[in-house]
Amino acid sequence: MEYLSTRGGCSGQRFEEVLLTGLAPDGGLFVPNELPRLDSAELRKLRGLPYAELAFRIASLFTDDAFPEDALGSMIGESYAGFSHPELAPLTRLGEGEYLLELFHGPTLAFKDFALQVLGRMLDHVLVRQGRRVLILGATSGDTGSAALEGCRHSGQVDICILHPHGKVSEVQRKQMTTTPGGNVRNLAVEGSFDDCQRLVKAAFADQSFLPSGRQLVAVNSINWARIVMQVVYYFHAALQLGAPRQAVSFAVPTGNFGDIYAGYLARQMGLPVDRLIVATNENDILHRCISRNEYVTAPLRHTLSPSMDILISSNFERYLFELFHRDSAALADFLTSGAEQGASLPPDRWRAMGEVFASASTDDAGTCATIAEVWREHGVLLDPHSAVGVRAARECRGSAKTPVICLATAHPAKFAGAITAAGLAAPELPRRLQEQFRLPERFTVIDKDLNQLKGLLCEFAT
Ligand SMILES: *Cc1c(COP(=O)(O)O)cnc(C)c1O
Repeated sequence: MEYLSTRGGCSGQRFEEVLLTGLAPDGGLFVPNELPRLDSAELRKLRGLPYAELAFRIASLFTDDAFPEDALGSMIGESYAGFSHPELAPLTRLGEGEYLLELFHGPTLAFKDFALQVLGRMLDHVLVRQGRRVLILGATSGDTGSAALEGCRHSGQVDICILHPHGKVSEVQRKQMTTTPGGNVRNLAVEGSFDDCQRLVKAAFADQSFLPSGRQLVAVNSINWARIVMQVVYYFHAALQLGAPRQAVSFAVPTGNFGDIYAGYLARQMGLPVDRLIVATNENDILHRCISRNEYVTAPLRHTLSPSMDILISSNFERYLFELFHRDSAALADFLTSGAEQGASLPPDRWRAMGEVFASASTDDAGTCATIAEVWREHGVLLDPHSAVGVRAARECRGSAKTPVICLATAHPAKFAGAITAAGLAAPELPRRLQEQFRLPERFTVIDKDLNQLKGLLCEFAT
């Protein structure tokens, strides 16, 4: 399989190359030339497979001969061996035709583990072949940092350094990052905001001449194609359990950067019978406004109880728009340059086409808390605030439709105890595994928001 850029300036890339690249050189995102499609007979053959086996089958449709079967199989096996639930992604029933897909049984208790556990091992595999070492650099306001550290701490060819704003992440989030073991793991706490962290990271990527020769920075952010691929798997796994391909299902997805729900869209394009994909947003609702009213325009950032969805512009949305515009890079660029800052709208027929696949709803913090309390009362199930935004949207968008809807539960409620108590419920206990990790000493270095200081530390770290 080969990959091309959404902006039309770059094509013929291999999986191995795409894995190590963030943005394409022309500023676009990589997508496959052509998606694999599975017919009903092939889908039926996937039913009942253990999760890791299904993950292997799907991943091997996207990788290439840099990943021989046995290597890919053992990478995936190792990645998921550390999950605390034997089914990895258990599907439980909430109400009539309403299901919860629990994606929080990985080592950092969020769905990002499904992708980042595998990504760390894929990088390692490719870098061994190339005889190279890289330094992963990223900024986090919370969740991604710990999942990335946890995914890379075993990698022999990778050092990883994550910046977070000093004193501005929750205690659980900080400890998850700073107690991650591993000699190749570094945490820097920046005296500044999350934006300052991002600015520093961007500047370091822009000029890497300070690094020792042969070393390179790599990003593992949500536009990384391999992450998307590993997220396609649980859509198949869940739908097959509910009777696909005979039975169609809908999904409700708490959405930030549009990576998770874009994986659902890929599953649909690959032949999985998905009726609707419900985009669930918090008050940062640009996607909801675009889908429901054809208004694509940014609004000031709000800090909400579901911080991993506090995002102004969803980077992976570009990948979907590329398909919506029939892969016309010029039309896509036109739309994107007319710009979310000034406000843009889709051509009416394209907007209607989007409505055939996506529905959407947005929820404020009060609605999030009300849903946490409601689902607890009705079913004795405790939702984290992100998952609650998803369930709320599912209930709003579903109407009287008979199609079962699967709500993605993206994080464990214990990670967001503040929202649970705001909903009037008792704060849940941290799972044992995390309590044990939190007894380890915290390791982090406080730095100023100073590029030269950062460069000096990275340089030391990379030698
Ligand atoms: C990252 C994250 C999301 C948003 O996922 P995207 O792929 O960015 O849309 C939702 N919930 C939780 C808990 C997350 O960590």
